Amino acid sequence: MSMDDISLPTQEIILKGIAAAPGIAIGPAYLYSKHIPKVQTKAVAPEDLDAEIQRLRSANQRSEKELMKILAFAEHKLGSQSAKIFEAQIMILNDTILMAAVEERIRKEHRNAEFIVFDEISKYKRLMLAAPDEYMHERAHDVDDVMNRIIRNIQDQKLSSRVGGESIIVSETLTPADTVIFSRNQILGYVTDLGGVTSHAALLSRSLKIPAVVGVHTATKQIHTGDVIALDGYAGMIAIRPTEETLEGLRHKAERFKEFEQKLVGLAGLPAETLDHKRIELAANLEFVEEIEFALQQGPAGVGLYRTETELLTQTRYPSEDDQFETYDSVANKLFPHNVIFRTFDVGGDKLTPEMYQEDNPFLGWRGIRVLLDRQEIFLTQLRAILRASTRRNVMVMFPMVSTLLEVRRAKELLKQAKEHLKSTGARFDQKLKVGVMIEVPAAAILADEIAAEVDFLSIGTNDLIQYILAVDRGNSLVASLFQPFNPAVVRTIKMVADAAHKHNIWVGMCGEMAGDPLATMLLLGLGMDELSVVPTVLPEIKKIIRSIKHKDAKKLADKILTLSSEEEITKYLFSILREKLPDLPLEA
Ligand code: PEP
Ligand code: MG
Repeated sequence: MSMDDISLPTQEIILKGIAAAPGIAIGPAYLYSKHIPKVQTKAVAPEDLDAEIQRLRSANQRSEKELMKILAFAEHKLGSQSAKIFEAQIMILNDTILMAAVEERIRKEHRNAEFIVFDEISKYKRLMLAAPDEYMHERAHDVDDVMNRIIRNIQDQKLSSRVGGESIIVSETLTPADTVIFSRNQILGYVTDLGGVTSHAALLSRSLKIPAVVGVHTATKQIHTGDVIALDGYAGMIAIRPTEETLEGLRHKAERFKEFEQKLVGLAGLPAETLDHKRIELAANLEFVEEIEFALQQGPAGVGLYRTETELLTQTRYPSEDDQFETYDSVANKLFPHNVIFRTFDVGGDKLTPEMYQEDNPFLGWRGIRVLLDRQEIFLTQLRAILRASTRRNVMVMFPMVSTLLEVRRAKELLKQAKEHLKSTGARFDQKLKVGVMIEVPAAAILADEIAAEVDFLSIGTNDLIQYILAVDRGNSLVASLFQPFNPAVVRTIKMVADAAHKHNIWVGMCGEMAGDPLATMLLLGLGMDELSVVPTVLPEIKKIIRSIKHKDAKKLADKILTLSSEEEITKYLFSILREKLPDLPLEA
């Protein structure tokens, strides 16, 4: 045997992460390790206290100047809404209560400014990190970013974010500021160990059109500066030292996506209508006011799910009726004449609640409507705020985590109370505000007939519905392969819910992630969805699919799929049909 016959173990390493911003990037890695300033506690002599406070104040001014520059750049590149993150950071800097507390402690404790800044801001951060919520953890990074900026400026160190040549930034985490500053260089892509799709860095990379894969866990340990890496922002995959075969596959994929994306240009103004003229309400899911601008550019028919609980992330208590009204009213105003469906607070489960509590089984615990019906004042306050924002008649409301008919009736009763209260104060609102229920618990799906008789619409939340039908934790990577949207049990449940809604002449939609899966679109239309509410980035692609198929064929496809008895058969069948009907649709196998 010659040396040529011995095949050396391939050098390629494949890492999986979360697809955060679409696109393919191939190039050298640049390992960015954040400068974490070292903070030591030092005594300050009484006569030096004034100078110490001066040091703090000028560091704050310098930090503000830096952030203002980033803000201006971000506004230019991303638009004013997306740049708001930096305004929020500037607000932390200008928080007079926080800064007064820091100055007071410097004077009282005779200790150095950077230590007190570190200690005081770390308290906030710890509170945020203790919250059982991924989004809150992301906001803790923002606080961290501001803290490190002030400390670096107290210590008089310069900021470095220059990267030589074109590269893919690999980092444990990226702050929004890092993301924007790096984008001034020739950045091909971002890879991070931490973070999820909702991280601001992920949202920003999508707006900046820089491919990104987040949540890779070990990227910074396995990748070195200069390593060639290939990043697939569609599938959430990284190849370190990719083989020629991998590169070829990715180049081909990039071409297919590019060709397909070109076909999506100009779709924004067109309706989501099938070739045989069945109109689908194609709406967007929103979590923050900041997303509205981008979402509207994608051309939705409205917002099918506005997750109001994200408003609670930065709060330690439930916001007042007026504060909530201001947010809802501004959302409804920005979206007008499109509709927006406000989902009442869905706290509990994996989501944050301002009241911290521990449960052994949070997903089976005090969540959504259960909390709202137990805390009627909170619920009534929110309902009044939503009603007050409905004067343009483009607002609807829906309830999360419903599992019994009684919950629907009690929620409606409280809505009636909220209306009566507003009437007595002379406040204006839409008397005919439409009310819907999210179908995300199997019991609600089984009772869909009775529930549909009580409301104006149903919206299927597959993220939870699938987890409860299949008994698979939606966030547990160990059982991720069992989280199957195309499991026949899920498909048949969707059909059952759609039939129940139509029997009562109300519309039925879907706002779970499945609604935005291109592989599912034709099937969902065939099963009877009247509305699909999807993350804004996939909206044009889903619209394109809807406009390329016949509703008649979608129904035939659904009938066939309903006879199949395994997830494998269903996905295989869907792939074969879609490849035939939409040959240019780049599908993830
Ligand atoms: C769902 O469960 O599908 C849903 C849309 O709600 P959330 O993801 O906010 O739980
Ligand atoms: Mg849900």
